[in-house]
Amino acid sequence: MAIDTDNLEQRCPRLGNRVTFQYCLDYGSDGRLPCWKVIDCWWEIFDILTYLKDNFSEEDVKALETARPKSKITSLVELIEQAKKRSTK
Ligand code: SF4
Repeated sequence: MAIDTDNLEQRCPRLGNRVTFQYCLDYGSDGRLPCWKVIDCWWEIFDILTYLKDNFSEEDVKALETARPKSKITSLVELIEQAKKRSTK
C-alpha cells in the first residue's frame, strides 16, 4: 500500500516545531533538492529512499545519501534565507 505523503508531519529537529513532509521537500539549501536531513528524518516513517529514487535523479539521491551536517552558522544562514523566501511567497 502506498503511503499518502501529502498528510505526513513530524517534529523537525532543526526548527523545533512540526513540519509537513512537503516542507522538507521544498526547503533544501539549494531550492531544488529536499532538506539534506530528509533521509535521516523520515526513514522510520516510510520508505523515503524509494520515494526519492522515484522522484529524483540517481545523482540527486546519491547527494542526499552522502549529505553531511553543516556548521551551525551555515545552517542558521540557510534557515534565515528559507524564512525570507517563505515571507515573499
Ligand atoms: S528533513 Fe529537514 S526540514 Fe524536514 S524535519 Fe528533517 S531537519 Fe526538518
